[in-house]
Amino acid sequence: MIGDVVIVREKVVRPTAPADLRRALSGATITGLDRRGKYLLFHLDRNGMEQCLIGHLGMTGRMFLQSASEPAPKHTAVHFELGRERFIYRDTRCFGRFTLDLSGLEKLGPEPLSEHFRPEAFRDALRKSRQPVKVKVMDQSLVAGVGNIYASEALHRAGISPRAVACRLSSAACYRLAAAIRSILGEAIEKGSGMSLDFSGDGAGDGFFYYGRSESPGEEREEGFRVYDREGEPCRTCEKPIRRIVQAARSTFYCPRCQGAGE
Ligand SMILES: [Zn+2]
Repeated sequence: MIGDVVIVREKVVRPTAPADLRRALSGATITGLDRRGKYLLFHLDRNGMEQCLIGHLGMTGRMFLQSASEPAPKHTAVHFELGRERFIYRDTRCFGRFTLDLSGLEKLGPEPLSEHFRPEAFRDALRKSRQPVKVKVMDQSLVAGVGNIYASEALHRAGISPRAVACRLSSAACYRLAAAIRSILGEAIEKGSGMSLDFSGDGAGDGFFYYGRSESPGEEREEGFRVYDREGEPCRTCEKPIRRIVQAARSTFYCPRCQGAGE
């Protein structure tokens, strides 16, 4: 059962009032945990009253347990007692959420690894957009959970330029992209589940976990990514140097040969 709840950074619980969040959590039991897109769903039961709380890690947030006797680490946004342990939600870059407001779930598109993700609907949605396909693929209402890294990776696998205008893609290209999103994510989950994660972000390097990147600077980097964060390095398919461009304020990595001329 959840004991004392401390909200250090009130911004992450908005628009829920801190007092409301404390009331919902104190004395409640966490009965289940789900995921939808990039959100974690905590199912709570408090005296038979069920409620859902959603958490979002932002880019670099962490949620973990530590001994209740240890002080909360730096950048902790919310923490609460859980028996002998303390639940810590740490939000280093302040992009995360921890709130009773579920409106973030409403606009989410289908889960890419579920049967609800249909290539025809994906194609139709792309065809309605004049945005560059990379930007559109990261639109969470189109397909839930695809972020910056896997958008670049999926486009490389599908052989599509990240700058291609979404509505001009052929049906075949849309279907290739849908399949690439599924296969890239499936493989990433499989590989990631076998890695030891640096939960608190206090480890080597920048302290953040990225799939495909070695945690310790001395270790050989895993050959995980095809293009992401590989600017200037040879494409693993054709050896042409990988290029980096900025789209919607995010870095995009692509191969100018395998993915068209960068039109
Ligand atoms: Zn290439």
